[in-house]
Formats: sequence, C-alpha cells, structure tokens
Amino acid sequence: MLIKFLGTSAGCPTLKRNVTSIALIINNPSYEIWLFDCGEATQHQILKSYIKITKIRKIFITHLHGDHILGLIGLLTTISINKSNNLLEIYGCKGIKEYIEFSLKFTNSYINYPIKIYEISEGEIFNNGILKVKCFSLNHNIKCYGYYIKELDKKGSLNVDKLKLDGILPGPVYKIIKNNNSIILNGKKVNCYKYINGIIKGKKIFIFGDTSPMKLYIKNLFKSDLLIHEATLHHKYKNIANLRGHSTNIQAAYIAKKYCVKKLIITHLSARYNYKDLRNILDNCIKIFPNTIIAHDFYSIKI
Ligand SMILES: [Zn+2]
Ligand SMILES: [Zn+2]
Repeated sequence: MLIKFLGTSAGCPTLKRNVTSIALIINNPSYEIWLFDCGEATQHQILKSYIKITKIRKIFITHLHGDHILGLIGLLTTISINKSNNLLEIYGCKGIKEYIEFSLKFTNSYINYPIKIYEISEGEIFNNGILKVKCFSLNHNIKCYGYYIKELDKKGSLNVDKLKLDGILPGPVYKIIKNNNSIILNGKKVNCYKYINGIIKGKKIFIFGDTSPMKLYIKNLFKSDLLIHEATLHHKYKNIANLRGHSTNIQAAYIAKKYCVKKLIITHLSARYNYKDLRNILDNCIKIFPNTIIAHDFYSIKI
C-alpha cells in the first residue's frame, strides 16, 4: 500500500499546501485508490500527481467541515466527465448524503456512474477479506471520525518438508491445505495450521481526522504501523488548539509514544506556518517521538 498526501494545510490553503486530502493506493485484490477527505481543489492536486481519477473507488470523509469536504462535489462531477462506470462508495457522518444530493441539485450537476453514500456510525464499515476499515469517534467540535485500516493477517508459506515427512506428497492437496483450517484426508482430520510457517501480520494504519487529544483508550492503535495525526498548532497555543477541538504537535507526539506506534506522520498544520516554523514543529516532536515525519503536499510513503 502507498499513502500520498494531497493536502496538508488546516483551515485554508497556502501557496505550497492545499487543504486536507490523503490518498491510499491499493494493489490487492486490484489497483484502486481510496481518498480520506476531499478539501477544496483536491482534484487539482490529483491532476498534479500520477493518481488516476477514475481509479478512485472509495472516499472516506472524517467530518463535514469545509476544509475536508469542499472539493467533493467538483471531484464527483469530474469523474462523470472522465466516463467511469465503476461504483464509487462514499462514507461519512450523518448529513453527508443530504450535502451531496443538495449540492448536485442546486448546481444542476449530475453524475453518470453508480454511487453509494453511507452515513456511518462507530465500528466496522468495510471488510473484503483482504482489508477492513473501522471508524471511531474523535474529540472535535462537530461529529468527526478517525479511520482504522487493517490488512487481514495471512497464512505463511507451506512447510513442504513436514508435509512430505507425514506422507503428504506435492499436488493439488497442497493448495487445499493452504486455503483451509482443517480438512479430511484419507479419512483422517488434518489440522492445516500444522503445515503453515507462521502467520504474516497485516499492516495497521490509523488516519485521524480533526481532534483534540483522545483521552479514551483506542483499541488496536497499540503498536500500529502508522499513525497519521493532525497537529494544527504549535504547542505554545495548546489552549486555543484544544478549545477548538484540535491537537498540538507535542500532543500528537505523546499519543504516538503512548501507543508505541512504529511511525507518526503529522499533518493538518495551520496555514500560518512557513517552512522554518514547520521545521521547528517537527524538531519538537522528534524529541518526544523520534520516528516522526511532517507531511507536505505530494509526500508519499510505502506501508
Ligand atoms: Zn480541519
Ligand atoms: Zn474540523
């Protein structure tokens, strides 16, 4: 999987940073793109990247604030112009369906491909046996969700030596053993796990929306592969940030440390910050959580 940041600014864009959107590029079972948030002009950012607009299959919206959603209608109508017949699924808080339907109606716009809009509540919202997505509530001044993306664990390779030793010779039965938990072979029950070289753990990714620091324990975040967390303001503005339902850089770093995540990427940084400020914001995080990266537009990372 590859993650690409299409916008990293909070509230409004700057010349260098657009408002929030993150693309997740998936290759299994097929090549497709999922977007997390779609701030204004996200489609311009897509044009500047190698992302194919017609490959977007899912859009997950964290919440209905403008800097996370104002690019959605433009993107949906552009997909129409690009003639896609694929289903596009949109997930978001209550109100997203009304927002999309009314915006299309009052701008006399239409979409000519299948679309499904899900108004979600906490828990599992998608599972195709390869990837699953769960959402959970955050601390913002309107309803806001974070998303947990988990690659399901896979069985390791077959232990051929052990199979041969037990008299099970190579053939189609190997595939059956790999794909099942137990089978009946020559009248006897066989525990297939006996012949598997361990389990390959699937990656765990967390994408938070806007939030002040989470006080409640977040199941699964512990030791996850990647935490993408907002860091709207520098820690010297902690009170303002938290009052507005946002976090500071230091608070994001402490969450990464508390949950022993493998990597932290901070994003959604106030438009007031220039390159030097951002460098300082990152340096402060690194002192608490060394494996911190600060996202910039078009930054991508393989997971
Ligand atoms: Zn925001
Ligand atoms: Zn917000």
